[in-house]
Amino acid sequence: MESRECSQCCCDFPLTDEYFHRDASKPDGFKTVCKMCRLEENKRKENDEIDDRIQKLEERGIKLLDTLVTGGSNIPHMAETYQRIMEVSAPSRAARREGSRSARLSASASR
Ligand SMILES: [Zn+2]
Repeated sequence: MESRECSQCCCDFPLTDEYFHRDASKPDGFKTVCKMCRLEENKRKENDEIDDRIQKLEERGIKLLDTLVTGGSNIPHMAETYQRIMEVSAPSRAARREGSRSARLSASASR
């Protein structure tokens, strides 16, 4: 029986439909890579496609994280703005409290 060495795994297999896929473009009508290697390759390609999809998802996830981080940097900015508003209003409140206390003090002193 005619056999063929697979160009990928270098194993000798009988040159039949059982071990090699048919390829009309080849002179002997069979592929140079055995069925097992073709299956492996297909699986690898499938995995690559899955990896690609995961990578794209991760890239999108990282982009989402980036927007969250830039959004996160906006939050301290918001806090800073809020703090500045508090600082502006706080001295007047403290002064009012101080004023009311001195007023009370002067009121008790006059008595
Ligand atoms: Zn092979």
